[in-house]
Amino acid sequence: MVPALPTKLTVATDGTLTGATRHYDKRLGDLGGVYRDDNAWRQAVAERGADTIAYSVDDQRYAEDRTGATPSGALIVGTSMLQPGLFGQEYAMTRGHLHAIADRAELYHCLSGHGVMLLETVEGHSEAVELTAGEAVNIPGHWIHRSVNVGSEPFVTLFCYAADAGQDYGIIAEAGGMRSLIVRNGNDWTTTSNPDHVGYRRAEEQ
Ligand code: MN
Repeated sequence: MVPALPTKLTVATDGTLTGATRHYDKRLGDLGGVYRDDNAWRQAVAERGADTIAYSVDDQRYAEDRTGATPSGALIVGTSMLQPGLFGQEYAMTRGHLHAIADRAELYHCLSGHGVMLLETVEGHSEAVELTAGEAVNIPGHWIHRSVNVGSEPFVTLFCYAADAGQDYGIIAEAGGMRSLIVRNGNDWTTTSNPDHVGYRRAEEQ
């Protein structure tokens, strides 16, 4: 067997990833239902435009030469660039997900900016891990995860996860949002409980 070839990547602090094979933009207009204050989100869309980029992702994936399939055990490496902002009292954030294969872990390493990784389990654990440049969080499997930008510059991270992990975005939407909200508290951020959260479905109900 001839394994896939190694890939050299160049990672800039602004998230530019030389060697990326894919890029996507998530726009303000795509984030309906993500923020608790729906009016604040609608107002932001009206003022800034539905096409305004909320966050972007570059990633790099490799395939086997002969089959074009992703090799078992492969990693996906990428960068995420989350723009700053406030929607009501909530800071700008990504949609968030649980891996479809829930035991798959993920590393996030902050390249620039100031953010929080909001992490929750179906069973009721919550963690908010603050990250600035040079800090990383090694997230085990089974944690629902979302990036939150609590700063005034883009929150830029390098991430790495198993290529077969997949993403389950519905788990947060069906629960009325994550259990915790990351909100403004003066000039700082804090965690509050989300009154709309109705609990996560159990893995066996998926
Ligand atoms: Mn993930």
